[in-house]
Amino acid sequence: MSDTGSQPEQLYAAREPVFPRKVRGRFRNLKWGIMIVTLGIYYLTPWIRWDRGPNLPDQAVLVDMANRRFFFFWIEIWPHEFYFVAGLLIMAGLGLFLFTSALGRVWCGYTCPQTVWTDLFILVERWIEGDRNARLRLHRQKKMDAKKLRLRVTKYVAWTLIAVATGGAWVFYFTDAPTLLRELFTGTAHPASYTSVAVLTFTTLVFGGFMREQVCIYMCPWPRIQAAMMDPDTLTIGYREWRGEPRGKHRKAASAGELGDCIDCMACVNVCPMGVDIRDGQQLGCITCGLCIDACDDIMDKVGKERGLIGYLALSDEVRERDGAKPRSAWTHVFRVRTMLYTFLWSAVGIGLVVALFVRPDISATVHPVRQPIFVTLSDGTIRNTYDFGLRNKHGEDRRFRVTLTTDDPSLRIAIEGTPYESFMVPADTTGKQRVYVLAPKGTEPAMADRTDVRFWIEDLSNGERVYKDSTFVGTGAN
Ligand code: SF4
Ligand code: SF4
Repeated sequence: MSDTGSQPEQLYAAREPVFPRKVRGRFRNLKWGIMIVTLGIYYLTPWIRWDRGPNLPDQAVLVDMANRRFFFFWIEIWPHEFYFVAGLLIMAGLGLFLFTSALGRVWCGYTCPQTVWTDLFILVERWIEGDRNARLRLHRQKKMDAKKLRLRVTKYVAWTLIAVATGGAWVFYFTDAPTLLRELFTGTAHPASYTSVAVLTFTTLVFGGFMREQVCIYMCPWPRIQAAMMDPDTLTIGYREWRGEPRGKHRKAASAGELGDCIDCMACVNVCPMGVDIRDGQQLGCITCGLCIDACDDIMDKVGKERGLIGYLALSDEVRERDGAKPRSAWTHVFRVRTMLYTFLWSAVGIGLVVALFVRPDISATVHPVRQPIFVTLSDGTIRNTYDFGLRNKHGEDRRFRVTLTTDDPSLRIAIEGTPYESFMVPADTTGKQRVYVLAPKGTEPAMADRTDVRFWIEDLSNGERVYKDSTFVGTGAN
């Protein structure tokens, strides 16, 4: 409750719809470029083909949920290699720290999916309904006449198609894209596919088309976290009020010399997709997209003033600038101890992941001794220990693996359950389970010892690659 009055404080302000005006300039071009690249990657990646053998879709990027594997071109991540995913997430986090401490909310302004799709929805809206003034007129027009109905229906249909394409593209990452597309259109796809497409269509439409800047302001925690990563040396978008104020329409002013450079044209506010007036200072709503810079630079060109009334600036340069000095070079803000430390950590994790990728063995095996019971005495007095092997065949064809034993005592021998041979087959793209016995004849040293160290060698017979696993053979302990 308010301290002074009886009116309860409003925690949520009613939304003022934002109708950003079209703008041209270097930041707008950068945003177009990033939008084309990011959307292109998202929509087209599932359609890149890659030979994965007879048991898997020939898809370059594939999340194989059934076998809990992830394929990325020539890289294959199995469940036991989840540390790669953890490493990539750590790199993504460090990358965000790095860019935020150097350039503020560049992630929000240029590459966040919410920003990219909202930008796309606004672009479509502008194509259909016109630029800011036309959209404002349409919004204020209470009567739903034929023209407004036609424009609204066209816009919602276009938005829905984008949303369906977005939801559809997501499910293509999980199975063979051409097959799933056919199944989706013929009504034969799995219900989970239709549900996923429907949920993602709905969220894309609501977040990108209707909620837009409200997602950033009210739902996303990132703007709150980012403040902790920024410092006075961080370059972020700001208004040089010492240059712009007092603002005013120059032509109307009694003496233009009394005014600052800002002609109060509102161009910076009208192009802002967040509805922010950057002249009021740094605000939570500003995603640092740079569009107000483009708008203001254009105005400065027209009125014959120096560009940069709105621009990237650092708090630590403010005093210098107020005194009329030039700000320090942008590079001195970007290359600082903090950003270098983030870069070092990011590179260290990246190099570690690349090394781990190249040195990881092709054969992945686990050996678990069965200790319930610890050993079994056979009818002829032989002591038998049991081991459960888990062997991953990461290849697209069935593979045969041979298991042999090395130990100091030659009396120990190996037997594989269900086969008289020393090898067994693991089907393609699966983890094979196999029970293996180690036997010590009656009266031998291992049979009577407490424990004997053993080493299992597992060899892929198709290419001769070998790995070993150490374990222990437990005897009666009679010695
Ligand atoms: S104030 Fe400028 S930089 Fe911030 S969101 Fe608006 S247009 Fe983008
Ligand atoms: S665009 Fe520039 S000149 Fe126009 S109102 Fe904004 S800051 Fe002032």
